[in-house]
Amino acid sequence: MDVILLTHTPNPDSLVAAAARICYRDVTAGELLRGEEENLSRRLIADLFTSGHMSTFEHVSFTFGVDGLSRVASHQLVRHRMASFSQQSQRYVKMSADPGAVIIPPSVSKNPEALSIFTETVRQSQEAYAELCALGIPKEDARFILPHGHSTRLVMTMNARELHHFFSLRLCRRAQWEIHELARRMLALCREVAPVLFDMAGPSCIFGECTESRNCGEPYKDMEDLLA
Ligand SMILES: Cc1cc2nc3c(=O)[nH]c(=O)nc-3n(C[C@H](O)[C@H](O)[C@H](O)COP(=O)(O)OP(=O)(O)OC[C@H]3O[C@@H](n4cnc5c(N)ncnc54)[C@H](O)[C@@H]3O)c2cc1C
Repeated sequence: MDVILLTHTPNPDSLVAAAARICYRDVTAGELLRGEEENLSRRLIADLFTSGHMSTFEHVSFTFGVDGLSRVASHQLVRHRMASFSQQSQRYVKMSADPGAVIIPPSVSKNPEALSIFTETVRQSQEAYAELCALGIPKEDARFILPHGHSTRLVMTMNARELHHFFSLRLCRRAQWEIHELARRMLALCREVAPVLFDMAGPSCIFGECTESRNCGEPYKDMEDLLA
């Protein structure tokens, strides 16, 4: 899987701090973006997070390019309604016959017998897809035969509030492994460009109360543990 941060709102940490400043201080709009000590902005953003004043996080957006994610994972991803998506169409784009175009789960790849069943079934379905296309069946109909694990490409935009919500759900150890890995990479990219905003982004075992009754049996100790 490839995950790239394509673009983001400039100066995300400063902009959210500026948005908060207009709520709490008697400053003009023109004064908002004048430099403030970094540790003051850091404290202000931490207060916003702990008090739940999260609308301030909506002013900054992050756009990712994702390549090589399965449609199993993308189906879960697009349930996040506050995000915007553009996904490669199987109606217009002919799907690759490369066996690598189907994502192999680690549980399958490390079991030789399972891997053999998996790859043979993928081969058959890709062959059937190509034969249906050759018979003049439209791609939008031939695709019905393709595996659910077929890889896809998409562009996705989320604001920082939605990203916090997304990370709290999908960085849980109980999240499906592929969307968990996607979330892990997205968070690492976000922390590079907005370290303050995403300092407290992560699963509820680290930031808050576990929503899964700690039944993973191995809650994360801290963010270093998760991002390692
Ligand atoms: C562990 C886990 C298991 C899951 N299992 C299943 C399953 O078995 N079947 C299944 O169908 N889905 C399942 N899901 C998907 C889940 O139900 C959500 O669709 C998905 O996690 C998106 O979360 P969301 O709705 O909170 O977030 P978003 O859609 O990203 O929305 C963010 C927040 O905005 C608010 N919001 C958005 N839209 C509305 C609205 N219409 N009305 C009110 N508030 C709104 C809510 O506060 C919401 O939390 C699962 C998710 C997880 C994390």
